[in-house]
Amino acid sequence: MTKIFIDAGHGGTDPGAQANGLREKDLTLKLALKTRDILNNEYEGHSLRLSRTTDATLSLTERTNMANSWGANYLVSIHINAGGGTGFESYTYNGSYAGKPETNRLRAIVHDKIVNETAFRDRGKKEENFHMVRESNMPAVLTENGFIDHSSDAEKLKSDAFLNNVARGHAVGLANALGLSKKSGGGTGTQYIEILANSLWTYNTPDWNDRAVIVNKGDVYTVIRDKFPVDGGHMYQIKSGLYITASPTYVRVYRSSTAGSLIS
Ligand SMILES: [Zn+2]
Repeated sequence: MTKIFIDAGHGGTDPGAQANGLREKDLTLKLALKTRDILNNEYEGHSLRLSRTTDATLSLTERTNMANSWGANYLVSIHINAGGGTGFESYTYNGSYAGKPETNRLRAIVHDKIVNETAFRDRGKKEENFHMVRESNMPAVLTENGFIDHSSDAEKLKSDAFLNNVARGHAVGLANALGLSKKSGGGTGTQYIEILANSLWTYNTPDWNDRAVIVNKGDVYTVIRDKFPVDGGHMYQIKSGLYITASPTYVRVYRSSTAGSLIS
């Protein structure tokens, strides 16, 4: 049983960074809970513990003590950046320690999956002397998911659909890094895409210039190919064979194991 410790950064009397009407502590809690739910709904062979599931105040030492005394196999500490910049970066401990190559190997899997799911600008795989990655006795990563004080990052972070993508990056990245098994028998369900824009182009091929037909707000299609990168953005392929943007500004993707008979 792989034990995964998810730390929602800040909380309670410590709001973390604040800008654009957002508080870091609220976003990290949402992301931790969403990551937990995806892992529990879609994967097996692990147990999860969160540093907090409410707006609680915890010191950094309390957080690493929880993970260490539980005997976690992996720790991820979720944060939102601030201070000028845009995009995603992750941190492992910058000291010298026996498990460093393995820590960075696992980090690369998680990091790349988050970048892939969010289309955030990749600021790089970094190392720092942060408490959460230094004082944890297991491989650990700290993620900085966009800049709360950057207007377009903040707009993304206000979207629940975008937070789902950030959480999915964490969950699938962790599952891949730690070798978790996907649940069988409909645990994941079919993926559907709902059109949020009033009208939206589809594409004949994975090419932004190869426009096919327009689809409309509220339409729902079955996804047959998961999100993949296409020249500066991402696309899904839907059941008709056409391609469609994966941008959470225009579409919402969700999973269901029961709605299949209702939607063609
Ligand atoms: Zn933080």
